[in-house]
Formats: sequence, structure tokens, C-alpha cells
Amino acid sequence: MKFLCIDCDAQMTFEERQQPGDGTFTASFACPRCGRRVAMLANPMETQLVGTLGVEIGGRTLDEQPLEFTRGAVAGRDDAFIEDAPRSTLRAPRPVWSSDAEARLAKVPGFVRGMVKKIYSDYARERAIEKVTPEVMDRARAELGLEGM
Ligand SMILES: [Zn+2]
Repeated sequence: MKFLCIDCDAQMTFEERQQPGDGTFTASFACPRCGRRVAMLANPMETQLVGTLGVEIGGRTLDEQPLEFTRGAVAGRDDAFIEDAPRSTLRAPRPVWSSDAEARLAKVPGFVRGMVKKIYSDYARERAIEKVTPEVMDRARAELGLEGM
């Protein structure tokens, strides 16, 4: 993730990052030529998305989130398979992609395709959906507010 100063056509350099602990995340960048500064603010969901994807901001990834729980680790827990489990309790195996879902994914620009595929895959895993289809993609887009992906 990079920011460009439009006036200078220069890549802004990372200045400071903050994770205040309430789930939000901020990072500030400055233009090395004119000194203009910008800050990026991410709400808790965006912060988790970035953290989940392992995107590097300011030179290192956000604090690791526990991503993988095996079925064995949660066996015996009454709440192990509740609908609204937090994103961090992914437990289902990787979903397969139907050919029409793959075809739709292929229309996504290459530089974000991997990220988009992971978002849909995680969405399916969290809901124990074994196969990603265009219908699942539509549902994920509506529920996650991913219009345009
Ligand atoms: Zn500048």
C-alpha cells in the first residue's frame, strides 16, 4: 500500500503508525519533496481485513490475528459452530471455487485478485460453505459491503 503526492509525483514516505487498541488503525505518510502529509484511517473491519491479509503498512504487518483453528481444537465447545463466530475463528477447510465463480474472479484486476479471492474464501470458510459460487460472491459482497470487488 503506497501513497503518491500528486503535485510532486513522488512516493510518500511512511511516518507513523498507531493502533490505539480500539480496533482502529492509523498511519501517516509525508511527501519527501514538499512535506505534505496524509493520514490513513481504517475502521475496525478494515483494520482486521488488512491484518488478515498480512498487508504491510509502514514496513511490517499488523499484529498477527489467530487465523486457523482446527476442528479438534474446538471440539466439545457448545459455541464452536455458532453462526456469528468472530472472523478469527476460521475453522472450515478451504472452499473450492466453481468454474463460473473462477471465471468471475478472472475479471478482477490481477493486482488485487489474490486479495479478493481470499476475502471470498474466508467468507465461505467462516460460514462452512464448501463451494464458492457467483451466488456466494453476491452474498459476500452485500454482507461485507464489497461493492466493486
Ligand atoms: Zn509533494
